[in-house]
Amino acid sequence: MAQETLYLKWRPKDFDEVVGQGHVTRTLRNAARSGRQAHAYLFAGPRGTGKTSCARILAKALNCLAEPEQRPCNACHICQEVNQGRFLDLIEIDGASNRGIDEIRELREKVNYRPNEGRYKVYIIDEVHMLTREAFNALLKTLEEPPEYVVFIFATPEVWRVPATIRSRCQRFDFRPLRLPQIEARLNQICEGEGIARDDKAIAILARQAGGALRDAISMLDQVSSVGDGMVTADLVRAILGTAPDEACERLLSSLLAGDLAGALEQLGQFAAEGLDMRQFTQGTLDLARAMLLMRLGAQAEVDVPQETLARLGDLAQGVQVEQLLRLTRSLSQAVDQVRNAYLPQLPLELALVEANAYLHGRPEPTLAGVQPAATTAAPAAAAPSPQLARQREPVPGPGRPGPVTVAPQRVAAMGVAEPPPLDLQRLQKLWLKVGAKVRLKDRTLEPLLRS
Ligand SMILES: [Zn+2]
Repeated sequence: MAQETLYLKWRPKDFDEVVGQGHVTRTLRNAARSGRQAHAYLFAGPRGTGKTSCARILAKALNCLAEPEQRPCNACHICQEVNQGRFLDLIEIDGASNRGIDEIRELREKVNYRPNEGRYKVYIIDEVHMLTREAFNALLKTLEEPPEYVVFIFATPEVWRVPATIRSRCQRFDFRPLRLPQIEARLNQICEGEGIARDDKAIAILARQAGGALRDAISMLDQVSSVGDGMVTADLVRAILGTAPDEACERLLSSLLAGDLAGALEQLGQFAAEGLDMRQFTQGTLDLARAMLLMRLGAQAEVDVPQETLARLGDLAQGVQVEQLLRLTRSLSQAVDQVRNAYLPQLPLELALVEANAYLHGRPEPTLAGVQPAATTAAPAAAAPSPQLARQREPVPGPGRPGPVTVAPQRVAAMGVAEPPPLDLQRLQKLWLKVGAKVRLKDRTLEPLLRS
């Protein structure tokens, strides 16, 4: 028999073992123990954050034979059957591969049969957003009058794709992406339990690469430790996972700092078209910006970037003010947060670049409200400030410091970079409107956020 994966072996079996979702597990535990559970739950949140694990634990707690305050006991035969995946009254459906009306009709018929041996029949529909409209309609009829012995648990990373009629009939829980220390702590715990030797750096890289998904972190740990024969080092992690393509990130940042926004956006589009992992790429760009910032503050020891890259970044960062680096790092950090749920994976980084160009080079950001004609003509050359430009530009704190407009051309000249091609704001503005319209189709609440 093949060896059990670390992820399955360390899958939480009780609410206490679920990492980082205390706001969810407390409520679920109390509901299951008091017998006041809802008929339908909606577990929303990024992948790998414990939605399906919690659903199984809830199914177990609802059917466990122990005293209420001990549920789930993980000892009675029902708990064990759930843990082994053979409890007949727990029905798990993958919404992605059973998305049609026929599957849901079949489900509706079976719902009418009482549980085989448990108190409750629990249906877990994972990736529920994948169901067709007809399937959702059929499901809705069951949700309107559910038999008292049935509990539905729907899980999805894209809750906005679940119709409001379904959402309104569910008790909703939002699962959060895990924070780095939470992932690191769990990885260390697993290493202790499995006798895996590791260095802190390796664990830190794994946690960072996981992007909030504990499942991914554990799978990567599994992969690296099996190659390393129970020894996990930072070098091995880098070699196996292929760290973020630093070179590509560096090129992108160079273009941005040289004032070539169009070039930077074009590169980004190319990387996206080549299928580069946008989460890693955005993270990699953030890492470099952060390195530049920390270097400027004299904190080189804190930076996890190769020495030769650091030297080049140092040159790039010359002439950029600390405030601007701080802002750049902050917007890239926001982009990393958003990339998981973004409609287009490259969109958050795109937005960050456009914004950064404005405050690095004193160019107005294109807005849906329209760019004033004076700003449009003045923007490409970053010429002397017009009143319209001055109003839109971000002020740089501190008296007597050179403003971004005077900094940009000097830096471009010093680096020997040719003057960038004029940025066609009208074209960008049109594209922007299209992006807005598409986003609005997907989620009406997101589009105003983009504009804000
Ligand atoms: Zn039990």
